[in-house]
Amino acid sequence: MEVTMGVLTNLRDDALTRAVDAITELIEASETIKQKEDYIMRFSEQMIYVKDLLVKLKPHQSMAADSDFSSDSILRSLLERVETEFNKAREVVNQYRASRCPRIFLYRSVLDKLEQSSKEIYHILRLLNFAQLNYALNINAKAKAIYGKSKERKRASKDGDLAEQVVEQKYELVSEPVDERLHNHIFAETSNSGSSSPSPRTSPSSPSPRTSFDEIGIPPYYFFCTLTRKLMEDPVYVPCGHIFEREAIEDYFSQGKKLCHLCKEELSSTEILELTPNIWLRNFILEWKEKNAQIMADLNARKKLTDLSRRITKEDMKSTNDALQEMQVLMIETPCCIKETTGSSSNLIGKLTDLLKYKEANTIAVLGCLLRIARFSDGNKEKIGRSGVIQWLLNESKTVRYALELLLELSENDKVAKKIGGTKTSIATLVTLLNKVDVAETSRNVLHNLSSNLKFTTMMVNAGYCIPFLEQFNAHGSSEEDRVSMLKELAEIPLNETAANNLENESFIGTLTKMLSCNSHSSKSASLKCIKKMLAFEGLRTRFLMNERTTIPALLSLLKDDTAEQQCTHDALELLLSVAQTSQNLELDNEPAVFHELFSRDNIQELLEKIKTFANPKNKILLLQLLLELFQKSDASGEWILFESNAMSPLFSALVADENSEVRMYALKVLYRIARQHSTDIPLPTFPTKESIVSSFVAILTDGNRKIEAISAAAGIIGHLPTGDQSIDEILQTSNVLKALEDLMSYENRSNELQENALGALLRCTKHSKLEFLIQVSKLLPTLVQLLSTGSPLAKKCTALILDNLAQSQASSSSSFQRLSLHRKAWMKRGAACSVHGSGCAQRLVCLVTAKAVQPLVDMVGIMDSGASEAAFSVLDTLFGTDCDSNATSAAILESRGAWQILDVLERGALPVRFRALDLLGKIYNHPSFPSDKLKRFEGVLFSLQNSSEAELKSKAKVLLIELVSKTS
Ligand SMILES: [Zn+2]
Ligand SMILES: [Zn+2]
Repeated sequence: MEVTMGVLTNLRDDALTRAVDAITELIEASETIKQKEDYIMRFSEQMIYVKDLLVKLKPHQSMAADSDFSSDSILRSLLERVETEFNKAREVVNQYRASRCPRIFLYRSVLDKLEQSSKEIYHILRLLNFAQLNYALNINAKAKAIYGKSKERKRASKDGDLAEQVVEQKYELVSEPVDERLHNHIFAETSNSGSSSPSPRTSPSSPSPRTSFDEIGIPPYYFFCTLTRKLMEDPVYVPCGHIFEREAIEDYFSQGKKLCHLCKEELSSTEILELTPNIWLRNFILEWKEKNAQIMADLNARKKLTDLSRRITKEDMKSTNDALQEMQVLMIETPCCIKETTGSSSNLIGKLTDLLKYKEANTIAVLGCLLRIARFSDGNKEKIGRSGVIQWLLNESKTVRYALELLLELSENDKVAKKIGGTKTSIATLVTLLNKVDVAETSRNVLHNLSSNLKFTTMMVNAGYCIPFLEQFNAHGSSEEDRVSMLKELAEIPLNETAANNLENESFIGTLTKMLSCNSHSSKSASLKCIKKMLAFEGLRTRFLMNERTTIPALLSLLKDDTAEQQCTHDALELLLSVAQTSQNLELDNEPAVFHELFSRDNIQELLEKIKTFANPKNKILLLQLLLELFQKSDASGEWILFESNAMSPLFSALVADENSEVRMYALKVLYRIARQHSTDIPLPTFPTKESIVSSFVAILTDGNRKIEAISAAAGIIGHLPTGDQSIDEILQTSNVLKALEDLMSYENRSNELQENALGALLRCTKHSKLEFLIQVSKLLPTLVQLLSTGSPLAKKCTALILDNLAQSQASSSSSFQRLSLHRKAWMKRGAACSVHGSGCAQRLVCLVTAKAVQPLVDMVGIMDSGASEAAFSVLDTLFGTDCDSNATSAAILESRGAWQILDVLERGALPVRFRALDLLGKIYNHPSFPSDKLKRFEGVLFSLQNSSEAELKSKAKVLLIELVSKTS
């Protein structure tokens, strides 16, 4: 037996030597080819490693020898096979080298052949692996090293298809874990069974070796019968425990060979050979065959895919499109042909995505293939994502359904989703597609996949699609912190109308409002910022203010919280301000209760007090703006303030003493708003002193460098200062004030409001005035008379009242009067005495007759429903004074068509002016120039007044009627 062993070992060594020689030649042949043919170089490099492996087999001979005898003979046959393969490969290389035709034509066939050789070689190496299990571990390590090297090279070079494929496939197989249990099992069965009695029936209970041949293309050696060297179909045990193909061992036995082929033990002592079927091994082989058939089919499909991939070329679009069609069918029918995009299939992705640039290419087929490749694995998705195809897909997704489908598939991968979301206008495009019925669902799913990224979710809101944002925000799992960061993102983006509509979500708004009153500063501030943004939209604003009755109270309490951070206070103020600014529509009957709170006396009083406590001028200004808005929006809100003189103290203090000029300015605006809104005088507080307050207004009024609005506002307030206070009068009645008011009245672009303010202030100054001041005012007479015709009703009224004040001032013999007289004469061109005052005219402060004020005053009488008419009556009345000729006055009034005007007022005017009219008519109807037709009408009116419910008017009219009737009859 030892001799036999020795012979066999020699034979095996010979085989090894020949194989090494063959590969050496192959390598030499490959290396003579020019560097240019890279793939051959790579093939050759791989062969060097294979050679290395083979050479290393020798030192392990001893190890091989102690294993089973059969493995040696198999090893030898395998080595012979590998030698043949090496020779074939060398033949290919040699032919290639010798060929005269352009190498490009040979390229493909050489490539194919070498690839075939590589496959064969690694298959055989695989068998070597199993034949020499101990040694396999070394091959394994070596193969890993090769794989590692090849990976490095792959990074350096892109076109090393073949070499890489060879190495990778080799690695794939060799690195597969060797199932130790299987190994032990097989060897235990074959070696131990020799001495002990065979126990084949217990074998099937052995652990299943299934895992060991996943993806195995080559059967393990123990599947082969050592007699036939073929795969066994019906493996049987002989008594010594060795296994053979039933037919083979029966033949062997029938030929008279009575000893076991392997161990030389007697097979049977009789003529009958006792065989026990190895069911376990038979099933094992069957299973392998089945599996292998599947693997082969898969391999074929992969090979077909590789072939089709080669047919894709930009040069021949027709062939390319045919290949694409086939490829798509192949991918649908045999999805397993797609694999992880390593090696050549990554090129396939490149080729396919590249084709999308060509109009002639069958885009649908390309997308169909890409879709299936993407579906295969995350790695593939990422590769497609990296190929720069996303923008194209987005652009086409409106029209090409498959483009969107592919996007959806790609977006399943987080990395690619991030890329898609980051592509310019992607989200806006996808959101637009939500409106297209046929693709809406797919687009929604893509967006859903993108929504794991907060930025993208917010961008969707920006594009008008809010569902993912709201879902995440409202999710129970969302923490306060999550919500805060969502709100922060939301605050950064612009909102449009659609988005605003979609954000009208009860739960969202409820949570936002709740966050306003929570303890966390960041929640408060984030919520404030978002609400601020949303109030710009009617629908959202209504939601916040009408339905969420907590918003305004929360904001107010935030404002009144002294511990709140300045920024929060600031935001709350801004919010309330914008609420107030846009609330005109809400001040109707359906105005919610929260608004009452905002405009309530208690609230405004608290806000006024806050002016004192706010340290930050910006916040002070906002607060004043808010107050201004509140007073502007609601008349009622300021009413009580006129009876609560100290409520305004903070406003006056700010006006008088605040360091910030803008704060002072806004305090002025608020005060002006209050003053203008109410016709009564505004009360001054006990602090600051009235002198300092009035001086402040005067200072503003007389400061020519100020804005005209400020000056006008100061004048407006001065017009409402309390009367009858000597110290106030003294401050006001100065030539500076008068000069400023005069300037204001003649201001070029004056508005009615400005003129009314100036006249109001002038009127206030002429009340209880010293003569000296009135003399100065009287210089303005021409301007004032003109205003009687040109001013607004309110301006006319003020002017008339000023004239009333001037006309009632009696002459005195002061020296100042002398000066005045001279002055007056200067502007009265003729300087003659008038008919009404006679010679006394020159002694008067003003003369309304010579100033031509009678006509405009008579005209003013007809301005009903305002104080103007009454004021005009009042002024006209001064012309019936004791020093006046009432006959001349009547004539002057009648000349100005007064009969007609006054009768009109008597007929249709308000009650107080009807008294006035009746009074005046009583004074003038006796005059000869009173028109007779008007007299008739007067009689008629007096008559009809007898039916009046107003007793006093009725009796006055009755007296006049009797007088009139007695006179005419
Ligand atoms: Zn045997
Ligand atoms: Zn006069």
